[in-house]
Amino acid sequence: MPTPAGASCPLHPGALAVDVCERCGRFVCGDCTVLRDERALCTGCAAAVSSPSSRATLALVCGALGFVCCVPFPLAAIALGRIEERAIDRGDAPREGLTRARWAVRLGAMQLALLSLLLVSFAAWRVLRERLTAAP
Ligand SMILES: [Zn+2]
Ligand SMILES: [Zn+2]
Repeated sequence: MPTPAGASCPLHPGALAVDVCERCGRFVCGDCTVLRDERALCTGCAAAVSSPSSRATLALVCGALGFVCCVPFPLAAIALGRIEERAIDRGDAPREGLTRARWAVRLGAMQLALLSLLLVSFAAWRVLRERLTAAP
């Protein structure tokens, strides 16, 4: 991104700005520019986007808890994972959280599938038992 002539780095007042942070829009000098996923960021933003967001972690925790308690954790894991994936696509959340978000959605879907299988087999078992007891 081009910078206006004479703009200087907010962290190094003597240094001329060479770019604009693509996340927060601050001017950055050569020393402050960090390239991340082909985007030029300031050092503060680079630090903020380098670790998974707390939402990505929470989604994964819900995905894990779903094995202990079937409802409502799988639903929360899927919802949070999807929101996080979208935020990452928009560039609002760190890319590092993508694996966690995807696993959260996968685990949630797996648990819902298991749950419905369990319900179906329970219903089938009840029908079968009724038939057997009704028989003379
Ligand atoms: Zn920034
Ligand atoms: Zn600087």
